[in-house]
Amino acid sequence: MANDTLFDKILRKEIPSEAVYEDEHVYAFADINPQAPVHVLVIPKARNESFADLKDADAAETGRFMQGVSRVAEHLGLEENGYRVVFNTGRDALQSVQYLHAHILGGRKLKWPPG
Ligand code: 5GP
Repeated sequence: MANDTLFDKILRKEIPSEAVYEDEHVYAFADINPQAPVHVLVIPKARNESFADLKDADAAETGRFMQGVSRVAEHLGLEENGYRVVFNTGRDALQSVQYLHAHILGGRKLKWPPG
């Protein structure tokens, strides 16, 4: 399959992952190399390669994905203390998987600016 990435395989459950949330629109799973006590990746079921694609994507699908990210953060109990959502996009941001994904980071005080 063209553009068949690691996260396509995770979504199809061909590669195991630690699920934390799933609904009709998004799948959320623990990052294998966590950078904070809570580090979860959220991917849309409607595929895009990166955040840069969203300018041309279906607005309703994009909205449902963003709502899903927000819902996952609530589900993780992060709303009271706060959390960070990161979309690494392209080479300079070190995006390593070409399937749109949001990192949700929390569970500790996060530094700013990031490296
Ligand atoms: P990116 O660098 O593209 O923004 O984020 C990719 C993320 O995927 C990284 O934080 C990396 O730790 C995570 N990752 C890479 N391989 C796997 C894997 O096989 N399983 C899981 N759960 N996460 C992975």
